Amino acid sequence: MTRTLFVTTALPYANGPFHIGHVMEYIQADIWVRFQRMNGHRVHFVGADDAHGAPIMIAAEKAGLTPQQFVAGIAAGRQQYFDGFHISFDNWSSTDAPENHALSKDIYLALRRNELITTKTIEQFFDPVKSMFLPDRYIKGECPKCGAKDQYGDSCEVCGAVYAPTDLKNPYSTLSGATPVMKSSEHYFFKLSDPRCIEFLSRWTQQGQLQTEVLNKIREWFATDDEGRAGLGDWDISRDAPYFGIEIPDAPGKYFYVWLDAPIGYLASLKNHFDRGGARALGETRSFDEFMADPATEQVHFIGKDIVYFHTLFWPAMLHFSGRKTPTNVFVHGWITVKQEKMSKSRGTGISPLRYLELGMDAEWLRYYIAAKLNSRVEDIDFNPDDFVARVNSDLIGKYVNIASRAAGFLARRFGGTLAAETGAEGRTLLAALRAHAAPIAQLYEEREFGKALREVMLLADRVNEYVDRNKPWEISKRPGEDALLHEVCSVCIEAFRVLTIYLKPVLPALAAQVEAFLRIEPLRFADASHSLGAHRIGEYKHLMQRVDPALLDALLTPPAPPVALPGGEALAAEIGIADFAKIDLRIAKIVAAERVEGSTKLLRLTLDIGEARPRNVFSGIASAFAPEDLVGKLTVMVANLAPRKMKFGVSEGMVLAASHADEKAQPGLYLLEPGPGAAPGLRVR
Ligand SMILES: [Zn+2]
Repeated sequence: MTRTLFVTTALPYANGPFHIGHVMEYIQADIWVRFQRMNGHRVHFVGADDAHGAPIMIAAEKAGLTPQQFVAGIAAGRQQYFDGFHISFDNWSSTDAPENHALSKDIYLALRRNELITTKTIEQFFDPVKSMFLPDRYIKGECPKCGAKDQYGDSCEVCGAVYAPTDLKNPYSTLSGATPVMKSSEHYFFKLSDPRCIEFLSRWTQQGQLQTEVLNKIREWFATDDEGRAGLGDWDISRDAPYFGIEIPDAPGKYFYVWLDAPIGYLASLKNHFDRGGARALGETRSFDEFMADPATEQVHFIGKDIVYFHTLFWPAMLHFSGRKTPTNVFVHGWITVKQEKMSKSRGTGISPLRYLELGMDAEWLRYYIAAKLNSRVEDIDFNPDDFVARVNSDLIGKYVNIASRAAGFLARRFGGTLAAETGAEGRTLLAALRAHAAPIAQLYEEREFGKALREVMLLADRVNEYVDRNKPWEISKRPGEDALLHEVCSVCIEAFRVLTIYLKPVLPALAAQVEAFLRIEPLRFADASHSLGAHRIGEYKHLMQRVDPALLDALLTPPAPPVALPGGEALAAEIGIADFAKIDLRIAKIVAAERVEGSTKLLRLTLDIGEARPRNVFSGIASAFAPEDLVGKLTVMVANLAPRKMKFGVSEGMVLAASHADEKAQPGLYLLEPGPGAAPGLRVR
């Protein structure tokens, strides 16, 4: 039966580029989505930027941009990651898109009609200079326990005490420095404590679709709310202006808290996908509303373990009580650590996904490595560079890719690239064993047990390699009269390689596309494992994948030094390789003559001897710092292979080197380079 799925990943907050944790989640979801598509199921895979909230509003203000401009700038950087790591989203939108404004208001109004919205007056810190209520993270002060200065509103980094922001001594706003005042305001709440919500959530969470670790967590939340009271507490869903978000209907100056409209962004991006014709292009003929009203439509969210509360309590309750479909599955994953260290932006550890791509590293190495580590539980996985090199080089390339390269040459040279129609008993047994694994491997993909699936595939690859080693095609090829056997063995290898490629395709889509071109076949589907290609003519084998050079891992894990302003006032230029530097031919030059240039206050005309038959003529902008007569006879350094440049006063045939401040007007001073004693004209500086 063909399934219809709507699959999402968590919406990333639009205040910075993706980190490796985002990419891991996208790879996990993408593998699952590609697997479903390979089985003929129809998947709508969508995501969006989470654009609202105080942090973005404040970051935009600091950058001198409107919040809309700020998030547009972030959004413009997203596609390079999706292309680079083969993430096959069907649509990417923003929670600030019109669809999300409309849907958020619809859902809120439905909840209000259901009498699940209430208001309460709460007291909160208010910044009198910025005229805004302060989220806790923007309040600092002295620790009420130890008196340490500049501590955040929730806990002390010095003594470890935990407290409320109102307990801070001498509190101040980190935005303006002003002393915050207590001010009351009416807030809107979603009544999660309503018996109908409790009854619904107790039922919904027990339907068998959540992971055991997630259920255990939910049991704790049902027992006590985040303020220690028994049961689920009501949820504060409003924020006061100024706030970058969606205005609450009939409540001037009140906005939805970002976490209300963020998950609605899943639906909004799907609606955007439908409205733009993306769903129709995938064969979907129904409208967005019809699609979402169909009980057979599966709604699947991939998320990290930090946002389980929102996705398993608030989100299903919001959907259910606004008359909508609730999630079919919420798949929760753990963190990715690097060499057992949790990633930290401030310490700069971890792996930059963009640097990975800039270094020319193959995205499918990372997809394979991450897949090999993933399972269906809420477990952290660790990126270990030695393990990465071993798995890619020994398993992926050594066991799988090499099967094709061992057989393809003989087939092309001796058999016109055509596979043998018939296979002997040994080959038949091997291929039958490979085909028999289609169902168990498919089951592992379905259950997100990617690590187990890849282990199965590598065990099968071992069996193929054992077959090759037993039959030794390179020896058969030298024995006269054994062409038929050679043909059969090589054909079995290619057929086995094709079946293994099917099993790896959700993880390695680009490699699989190369294999499809090499074998001259239609895009592989899971069902294609059951039959053989027969006497099919394949194409020319081209090298499929490089091994990993361990030096690349060193480069990846050693982040480039951040630009630092040096005493001269200038940040370091971008890093270059030694080959770049070697292009510049620097020579010791003797200044044999120097004179002012008529009509120019800046330039001196220098005649430079670097040991050539004819001295060079160089115009140099150093007239402000040197009298010509002081320069004559001196040695200096020149760029000798700079292309000659036609200037107003003649042709300049090089450049002399001098140090200066970044802003020569503010800090005058020019310092000509001079070699140590004994240097002779023409010597190369390297
Ligand atoms: Zn303290």
